[in-house]
Parts: sequence; structure tokens; C-alpha cells
Amino acid sequence: MTTIFLKPHKEESLKRFHPWVFSGAIAKVVLDANHKASAPEEGEIVCVRSAANECLGVGHWQVGSIAVRILAFGEESLPANFWNARIRAAYQVREAIGLIRPDNNTFRLIHGEGDFLPGLIVDVYADTAVVQAHSVGMHVHRNEIAKAVLDEIPQVENVYYKSDDTLPFKAPVDGEKIGYLIQSDNSDESEFWSTENGLQFRIDWLRGQKTGFFIDQRENRALVERYAKGKDVLNMFCYTGGFSLYALRGGAKRVDSVDVSQKAIDLVNVNVARNFPKATNHTSVAADAFEYLSAQKAEGKTYDLIILDPPAFAKHRDAVKNALRGYQRINAKAIEMIRPGGILFTFSCSQAVDKEAFRLAVFSAAAQVGRKVRILHQLHQPQDHPINIYHPEGEYLKGLVLYVE
Ligand code: SAH
Repeated sequence: MTTIFLKPHKEESLKRFHPWVFSGAIAKVVLDANHKASAPEEGEIVCVRSAANECLGVGHWQVGSIAVRILAFGEESLPANFWNARIRAAYQVREAIGLIRPDNNTFRLIHGEGDFLPGLIVDVYADTAVVQAHSVGMHVHRNEIAKAVLDEIPQVENVYYKSDDTLPFKAPVDGEKIGYLIQSDNSDESEFWSTENGLQFRIDWLRGQKTGFFIDQRENRALVERYAKGKDVLNMFCYTGGFSLYALRGGAKRVDSVDVSQKAIDLVNVNVARNFPKATNHTSVAADAFEYLSAQKAEGKTYDLIILDPPAFAKHRDAVKNALRGYQRINAKAIEMIRPGGILFTFSCSQAVDKEAFRLAVFSAAAQVGRKVRILHQLHQPQDHPINIYHPEGEYLKGLVLYVE
């Protein structure tokens, strides 16, 4: 196996279980005899050692600023049965936190570093698991991962692989980045429903965004349900209508769902019809958020409850300043349209924007509009998107629930 020797003192973060080795920390790379090339292959398992030759662990090698993602600390090779053991442990957590129930078969099984599997995401929808590799190493291991998911998760019969958007752009990868790794004879995408807290969602992992659904808003959607009774609700950036369904079940007077994607709006309509076949109080529009809010405001429209759940405005650190301006603008537009005594649920899923910066952007929006605003809740990602305490970079979703006088 290839061995990576670190520069002196660069082992300290690994000893605190931070799973990344940055390329600048590496003193030398010693290839084993099997290597024909002069560098390790992307995705191969390497052993990491300190300058004093202490074994620190094994992980996936990759070209880039994060050179190694550690899979097993203190080990010289990947332990036998590694994938099954890690996946079983993650499932046990989902069972322990009460996510596996007859009225809930939708959950995130593996949340990368948060489940000690850096570079891997697995979402489970009823009998189908969608696997996403963010590192070449996870791509190399995709078939073992699929097999372990099938072995360990009782409800899973199909494993779909969807890594065309998530693998590093330049990485040389063999094999397909998209398609079924395991498919049972009775899988039927056209009649597929997954259940979240008793609500049914049509999930399109083939054409949908990310793995097909945003499981990370489950708890926050349940909070919307609590506040929705008798209210006029706007679900902005609705995607397939998660917040809309909970608001309807909570007794909202009416719900307007808005998203720029017509495909998303088509799915919102399918989901509303499935769960509330008699509802006459839901409308949906494919429109740009900024244009929609400006047009509605010009007509004097107001709401009791608005949800703003935009896509990540900053995908990288250098985009943070613009992102904050975007958050301020969209929040100011929404706060203006809230009736006195109304509520705003506002979110940011940009990992590069921390919660203080996001709160400052929302504060600036409130001050700009000049309304009295109080924070009722500070929201975050749910239990099946755990944050590894040694890897605080895993925190990304934050939200505020505001009471607007
Ligand atoms: N709230 C959703 C997830 C939202 S994801 C849920 O609970 O499932 C962000 C959504 O914003 C995507 O569906 C995307 O199509 C939409 N979007 C992106 N840019 C937009 C814009 N300018 N105006 C309106 N919607 C937009």
C-alpha cells in the first residue's frame, strides 16, 4: 500500500479525528512496488503516517487541496467488513432517533463525515437508496457500498447511483457515474412514493435535483405545520412542495407554491393531488422568486406566513459577499410582504455562509424595511444529517423563524 508521510506536527488535527489531510501537510509519498505511475492513483486506499512514522490511519487518495480523506483512524489497512459495519452503525442511529416507522420511510442514511464516511451521501426513499459519491475513492468503492446498503437496510431493494454532478470535474473515473447498481424486478419509477411523517412524495431521482428530494428540511417542515392554521402561506423556492404539504395538513387557509423550475412545479401538483385530492386552496406558479415577489408587492398582496428556502447562494468562499447581498435582498422583499403579526421562515443552505453572517444579512433586511422583528426559533439540519464534532465544516443548514410586527 502507498504510504503518505506528513510534515512534522501536521499529525495533530488527525489525532483530533479531523478526517482531512491537506496536500500542504505532506512531506513525501512512498509508492508500493505495484505502482507503474509516479503518483498514487486517484481513489486508492493509502496509509498515512506522521513524520515520526506513527500510523495515523487509512483513507482515500485524491488530487486536490484535500489529498486524503480518512476512513479508519489508527488502522494500517481497511478493516474487514468495513462497509457493512459503517452502514449498519449509521442505520442503528436512524433507528434510535425514531426515523424508521410505518409512516416514515424517507431518511438520510449516510451524511459524509457526519457518519464517518467522508465523500459519501446515501438517501433512502422507501425501497430505493440513492448513492452519491463526492470523492473518487467512494466512486471506486460504489459496488461494495451498494451491496452493503442492500445487506444492511431491510427496506432497500434498489440502489441507484447518481454522481454525475458531484465527482470532481477533472478526476479520471472509470465506469458510469449514473445508473442502477442494483435493481429488483419489481421496481417501478413511475409509481414511486416515499413517505415522510405520513405525507407521500413522488421522488424523481432520475431527473430531480440532488438525490431527488431535500430530506434536510423534514423537522422544519413539521414546524411550519404547527404554525400554518388559518394562514395565507407562500412557499417560495418550493421545489416539490415539501413545506406546502405540511402547511396544508396544518390547516392553512391557502398555500401558494413558487419555484423557477416547471418540472418542480409539476411534481408539487402531483404531490398535492395525491395527499389532498379535494384541496381547492393550493396554487402553484413557475416563476423567478425576485420577479414574483416584486410583481405581487406591486399588486398589494400580503401573506401571514412566508417560507424562503433558496438554493445555496454561495457555493464557494469567494462568493460569500454576493451571497449575503442576495440573502438581504430576498429577505427584505419577503419581510415587506408579511402582514403585521405574521411569520417568516428563512433559510440558508450555503456551507460557506455561517450562521452569524446569515443572521446579519437577515438583520440588515429587517432594518432596511424598518419592521419590528423578533427571532422565535433558530433552526438547523436534522438528526440524520449529523455534524461530526471533529469536523465542524459539516454544518451547513441554518434557518430563522421571525415574528414580524
Ligand atoms: N424547500 C424545498 C427545497 C428548495 S431547493 C423543499 O423543502 O424540498 C431550492 C429551489 O429553488 C429549487 O427547487 C430551485 O429550482 C429553486 N430556484 C432556484 N433559483 C430560483 C429562483 N431564482 N426563483 C425561484 N426558484 C428558484
